[in-house]
Formats: sequence, C-alpha cells, structure tokens
Amino acid sequence: LVPRLQPFTSTIFSEMTALAVRSGAINLGQGFPDTDGPRPMLDAAKEALFGGANQYPPGPGRPELRKAIAGHRARLGLHYDPDSEILVTAGATEAIAATLLALADRGDEVVVIEPYYDSYAAAIAMAGATRRAVPLVSDGNRFALDVDTLRAAVTPATKAILLNSPHNPTGTVFTRAELEAVAAVCIEHDLVAVQDEVYEHLVFDDHEHIPLASLPGMRERTVSISSAGKTFNCTGWKIGWACASPELIAAVTASKQFLTFVSGGPLQPAVAYALEHELGWVEQLRTSLAAKRDRLSQGLREAGFTVWPSAGTYFVCADVRPLGFADAEELAWQLPERAGVTAVPITGLTDHPDEWNHVLRFAFCKRDDVLDEAVERLHQLR
Ligand code: PMP
Ligand code: GLN
Repeated sequence: LVPRLQPFTSTIFSEMTALAVRSGAINLGQGFPDTDGPRPMLDAAKEALFGGANQYPPGPGRPELRKAIAGHRARLGLHYDPDSEILVTAGATEAIAATLLALADRGDEVVVIEPYYDSYAAAIAMAGATRRAVPLVSDGNRFALDVDTLRAAVTPATKAILLNSPHNPTGTVFTRAELEAVAAVCIEHDLVAVQDEVYEHLVFDDHEHIPLASLPGMRERTVSISSAGKTFNCTGWKIGWACASPELIAAVTASKQFLTFVSGGPLQPAVAYALEHELGWVEQLRTSLAAKRDRLSQGLREAGFTVWPSAGTYFVCADVRPLGFADAEELAWQLPERAGVTAVPITGLTDHPDEWNHVLRFAFCKRDDVLDEAVERLHQLR
C-alpha cells in the first residue's frame, strides 16, 4: 500500500459496526436508519428493476433524475441546468472524491472543518493533496466555526474549502454568519467551496439549512453535494449528486467517469420519483428524528453524559468525562462489554485526537424501542 493511503486501511464506522455485530451490542455507531424509506419509492425501484432499467445509465445520470435534482434545488431558489450542471454519482462519497481528485493536485491544500467525515481525509490523500483541519470550537452549547482559525488555515497552496453542513458528527447547522464568513474567504482567495449537504433535510427546531451556493458570489464557485441515502432512508443505494457550474461539473465528471463510470441504474428512477413526490414523507421523517434526538439526548443525560444539543443530522455528541472516563476512544471499544452498546469515538475524525478524546457520537436514527433499550443499558456505566 502506498504510504499516503496507509492511514486509511479501515474506517471507524465499519470497525464499530463489526464490533456491534461481533458482540451483539446495540449499534448507535454507524449512522443508518433501521426502517425503510417511502413505500412508493421502493415500488418505483422494483418497477424499474423488472422494467428493463438494468443496463448502464447515461454517464451523467438518468435524465429524469437530473431533472428531479434540478427541481429539488430550485425549491431553494437555486437553478441548475440538468444537462450541464448536474452529475449523478455513486453516493455523496464518490462526488466528494471525484471533486477533490479533479480540483486538488500534489502540493495543493484543502481546508476541512474538523471533526470531519472520514472520507474527506482519504479523498484528499488519494488526490495527493494535503488537508488543513480547522477545529470547531465548543462553547458548551454548540460547536461553532472560528473564523480567524479558518482564515489562518488558508495559504497560497489552498485550492478548496470542504464544508459539511448540517455537520456530521456534531449536529451543528452552520449559521448564515458562519457561511458568509466561509464565502468571504473563498471569494477573497479565489477558492472553490465544496459543500456536503447530505443532511440537508434533517434539520430540527428553528434551525435552517443554508446552501453556500445561495450566498452572493458563491453559485459559480461552489460544488454542492448531496445524496438520497439520508433523505429517504436508503443509505445502501448510494445515489448521490453534485450540482455546480458547467466548468466545475465538467471537471468532476472527468474523474467520476473513470472511478465508477455509472452506478445504480434501476435505483435512479426511484430516487427521481422520491425527490418529486415524497418530500412530505421526508417532513415526517424530520419531525420523527427531532423527537428521537430529544429521546436519546435526554436518556444520555440521565445516564450521566453531558450532551451537546444537536441541531440536525442523525447524531448527538456526548462528553464522557462526567462519568469518570478519561479516554473516549478506549471507552468506545469497551462499550459493548460494559453496556451492550456501540458509539463512534471522534478521535478517528480529527487531526487533533487528544483534543477530542472526551467525545462519543451516538446515532439516534433508530426505532424508539432500540433507543430506550440502549439508554437503559448505558445506565450501567455509572
Ligand atoms: N457525507 C457525510 C457527512 C456523511 O455522513 C455521509 C455518510 N452517511 C456521506 C457523506 C456519504 O454519503 P453516501 O452514502 O451518499 O455516499
Ligand atoms: N455516514 C455514516 C456515519 O457517519 C456512515 C457511513 C460509512 O459507514 N461510511 O456513520
């Protein structure tokens, strides 16, 4: 294995799922729901599967899906040409990798916000580029972006800022002021912004998901990435997409077409259907997830953790120190044995593990009975 990929021989999400399976623990580690998406979407997939949609779809994605993605973006006032500005990918993961491979070269730098989704570091390494991690800062109530640290991370070698909002793992939804600061840095230094919006619909209370591309001067320099997995409870389908200017999409296409070329033929029309007809279902999902967030957060507090409020995504972060633990990563490995549950340590998602080694991420995208059972078990940690 080449040296630059040696840090990436496993992922913390698969490791924790393997640990859960091995030990029979309740898996609140890897973020995936335990119920299916909207029934008509599943029917549409079945229909496509038996209706002959089993050969290569067109390179950019099936036209009806690109049209549905354009319609979905348009509801936010963002207009993209389905033929030149939208690319369907094998999940958001491929869109992220293809974008970084297209935009960052050896010697270039990419700014990421940490903790970061693990594929960012791997994709930057595959491109041969270097990441500069800007840590989010907790004020006890929320993990916020420190704009001075962001500015300090930009160098003449910086090509792009990669930002995930709503943010996995912290549940932070970046505010307009934070996003405006990111936009100002991008414009000042002529950088591309890559926004991972896979949790765009999973935003709670009065929080609002703001696409960077909607800010002045950003439409032409932002690659906006999303996917169906989180929106429609189908994380295994791996239907994602990127929206950007024709120049940026042409660049991303150049690498994407030689990574997978195409994928998910019969699933693409089903996602098109869901984007056009199932946003009501998604609204119910959002309400239900907000209640699950409350249920798990409250349960974790009662079990002795300090819990940061989560404004979106599938996740809450909890501080393990009030329970007397000094090493959250060690605790994560012991958690099945001690309490019959798995969670994800944040140490695998940062360049500064020591600064995050008191935090565990718990997924709440699970049935209520599963969450209740997990909380009951976690009381044993006291
Ligand atoms: N970005 C973030 C922040 C994620 O949490 C995930 C995983 N769920 C992905 C990207 C990957 O999305 P996909 O499964 O569509 O590749
Ligand atoms: N996005 C999911 C998470 O953060 C898992 C994705 C994966 O396992 N690669 O838990």
